[in-house]
Amino acid sequence: MATYKFMIDGKLIDSEKSFEVRNPATGEVIGSVAVSSPADVENAVQSAKKAQRSWAAKSDEERKKTLMDVAQVLNDNAPYLAEWITKEQGKPLAGPGSLFEMQACVGWTQVPASLDLPVEVVFEDDTRRDELHRKPLGVVGAITPWNWPLMIAIWQISPSLRAGNTVVLKPSEYTTIGTLEMIRLMNTVLPAGVLNVVTGDGSIGALLIENKDVNKIMFTGSTKTGRKIIDASKGNMARLTLECGGNDPAIVLPGTDAAKIAGDLFWGAFINMGQTCACAKRLYVHENDYEAVIGALDAVSAQMPMGNGMDDGIVLGPIQNKMQFDIVKSLVDDAKANGARIVRGGEPLGGEGYFYPITLVADIDNGTRLVDEEQFGPVLPIIKYKTIEEAIEKANDSDSGLGASVWGTDLNEAARVAKQIVSGTVWINQHGAIHPMVPFGGAKDSGYGVEFGVEGLKAVTQPQIISIKK
Ligand code: NAD
Repeated sequence: MATYKFMIDGKLIDSEKSFEVRNPATGEVIGSVAVSSPADVENAVQSAKKAQRSWAAKSDEERKKTLMDVAQVLNDNAPYLAEWITKEQGKPLAGPGSLFEMQACVGWTQVPASLDLPVEVVFEDDTRRDELHRKPLGVVGAITPWNWPLMIAIWQISPSLRAGNTVVLKPSEYTTIGTLEMIRLMNTVLPAGVLNVVTGDGSIGALLIENKDVNKIMFTGSTKTGRKIIDASKGNMARLTLECGGNDPAIVLPGTDAAKIAGDLFWGAFINMGQTCACAKRLYVHENDYEAVIGALDAVSAQMPMGNGMDDGIVLGPIQNKMQFDIVKSLVDDAKANGARIVRGGEPLGGEGYFYPITLVADIDNGTRLVDEEQFGPVLPIIKYKTIEEAIEKANDSDSGLGASVWGTDLNEAARVAKQIVSGTVWINQHGAIHPMVPFGGAKDSGYGVEFGVEGLKAVTQPQIISIKK
């Protein structure tokens, strides 16, 4: 069984300590990972710091060209890396699965490679001219979760590199091998030290973000860890982009054709088995349409094969790890104990792997754990409302504010409702429809800062004013 090494200054590094990685669909060991030491973290940061000077000194055109080469490498190796995602994370190759994740990696590299941050003249009169320039911040410490491991790493890496920063990434301990393989391949076209990776659990992540030479932290993960990162950043004053947890509401407006929206609603809730930050996690439906929407979602759910994502025709995989599997089970058990109606699913499938069926839960309300907590799994509680004001109030009754959606044919009414929801994004007649040109980020406890597009690129720069007396 191969041991996958981490990379510092363009070199693969081994270690005495390692951990095994298992396939969540089968339980089989698929490889092991060399674990970085505290000294490795320091070396990685120093390597990034050293490389940053010459990387930042390159022209925009040179960095753009190199990033387009990286995109080509990702595209050429997409089938290989997608297999790693499926074996390690569980999402199927097919459908909105690991090949889809790889295409996103390519797109989210090409787009920052095509963007510019030209000098802005922010003020000018007869006496002075003030220009706003965008400089790199330096070394970016990047910390990723296990749900979309390669895509989220790319969200952090590609804009950072485009802007002239260098990166040290610490991937999730649950999904390390695919990320290590991706970084190794990206390094075939990047100068040594520009993109480094260290491995291990949260304690290695903590050493990275605390490092005095880290200037910016790009973090995606739970709100709990996000708070620790805020605390740690007081030491090095690192700039923060925090993409934390979500518990997105979706509101179906009265009179909406259930059959028409059911397919998009299904994937809005269950893409990657619901292990997606911006998935519909609470569905609010008017009392007159309640059973029709439940019936339409149930019919779509019945057509979705679940199994080992390497097999043909599978569109839903396992839950990624035991911790998450246990959370999902306990929240559904709690809903059942409190009298909710299980329309579909509701019990683990049993056998090998962390398989939990698509679960639709009716006759439930805010104030239950399944509705109020981020369950991050293949479960959708469906809540009945009488008035649209009630639906908006319940949608906003959460500490999270990542995404939300409104579904209906009257787009003016949908927009009126959307504007009253407190979240970073409100989608209309779609959910989770992120795009590399469109800023994405959370309100409330879902984090701060945005990624993607020009705004995301600005977030990995230091604004500098050049003020000239005339
Ligand atoms: P997590 O917070 O447990 O772990 C995320 C990463 O942080 C891992 O690499 C982990 O090793 C590291 N880490 C843990 N403790 C640390 C510390 N003290 N210092 C530095 N790093 C530390 O999250 P998870 O379970 O891997 O991911 C699931 C969570 O991520 C969910 O809450 C989900 O909503 C969120 N998420 C958010 C977005 C978004 O864009 N807002 C996207 C995907 C996932």
